[in-house]
Amino acid sequence: MGDLQSPALLLGYGTEAVALYCESQLISSYVKKLLPIFPELVYIYRNTMTPAKKAAAVSNNPKDYCIATIGSHSALQILKGARDEGVPNLAICKRGTEGVYKSFGVADDILIIDDWSEWDTKVEPELLKRNAIIIPHGSFISYMGPEKVQTMKSMYYGTKEILEWESNRTMERKWLLDANILMPRVFEKPEDIDCPVIVKFHGAGGGFGYFVVRTAAQFYEVKNRKYPDETDFNIQEYIIGVPLYIHYFQSALTGELEIMSFDKRYESNADSIGRIKAEDQLAAKIHTSYTIVGNIPIVVRESMLPEFFGMGERVVAASKKLCGKGLFGPFCLETIVTRKLQTFVFEISARIVAGTNPFIDGSPYTALKYDVPMSTGRRIAREIKTAISDGRLAEILG
Ligand code: AMP
Repeated sequence: MGDLQSPALLLGYGTEAVALYCESQLISSYVKKLLPIFPELVYIYRNTMTPAKKAAAVSNNPKDYCIATIGSHSALQILKGARDEGVPNLAICKRGTEGVYKSFGVADDILIIDDWSEWDTKVEPELLKRNAIIIPHGSFISYMGPEKVQTMKSMYYGTKEILEWESNRTMERKWLLDANILMPRVFEKPEDIDCPVIVKFHGAGGGFGYFVVRTAAQFYEVKNRKYPDETDFNIQEYIIGVPLYIHYFQSALTGELEIMSFDKRYESNADSIGRIKAEDQLAAKIHTSYTIVGNIPIVVRESMLPEFFGMGERVVAASKKLCGKGLFGPFCLETIVTRKLQTFVFEISARIVAGTNPFIDGSPYTALKYDVPMSTGRRIAREIKTAISDGRLAEILG
């Protein structure tokens, strides 16, 4: 076990043994048949299917649970959100990063590990003991990998199946086009390039390594020089306009779609080029790059809100035709808005995005709707708390 600091809530019912027990084919198929009839059993099945003697295994008390996340990305607001809603929380930190979570004082407990490969042996047993609900964020998905997320036994907030639709560019495009969303053109091969394009490599995190060209010859010049071994890339029409990231929250409990906030990214060096005059840029041979450094809050023209609500609603409706419960919880449409006010979506994130971080104290939009400062992290915690109290936890777990 990694260093576990000040353990707060341990509901130890021998859950490791229980999880193994749950995995027996016989039990799982039997329980699965019952799930639609008794939603609470989903919880028992996932975590504590056991000849349990104590009643707390299925509890309507949020304090018997724990909201857990990995210490990175948007963990500060997730932990604070849980704290504000009165749900115990746990930060899982790679050694060396825990100081941040201690310093800001938002973590009830911190579990320190040396490597993510310790997930099965050190992290998951602790999560099961605590009745922890994992909140996935960008770093969580990239550290764990989609396969690990599918097989983990801990409770998981959100729809796991949607991750495949989000991470596979072809599937993502089909989903968004089915939802009647405007998207940049995609070029199958460099020879087809007939306008400025942005080239993205598969798995490139945070805009790293993207480049902009406008001919096939330019494409091969940059690619062969800088990324000779890369074969998996996506060539997208470069949309000229301003980036706008729309942060939504879809409640699985009420069916309501909320707009939480908007941001744009602070990117290096795209956001510094305007500080140098054109001749100096040419002399310095600066290449545009989009490596993300931070996020900047935005408030949009109010007349655009109906369109943004419509886009979010269509994306949620289309997701329900793709997989089980469809998309719910926080998600983000990553867009470029042109001078003609056309909104092109170049990507969807089906989870909390770091662009919500400027709004730990709420956004101008959540201030309208809530009487307390409502971050996306807190909105997640509130949904979980309500689901637990109302005996509807199964509806928000993936
Ligand atoms: P991403 O990593 O896909 O979120 O993109 C990183 C950045 O690249 C965005 O913030 C935009 O500034 C820029 N970008 C991505 N796709 C496009 C596009 N199709 N047209 C214009 N800019 C884009």
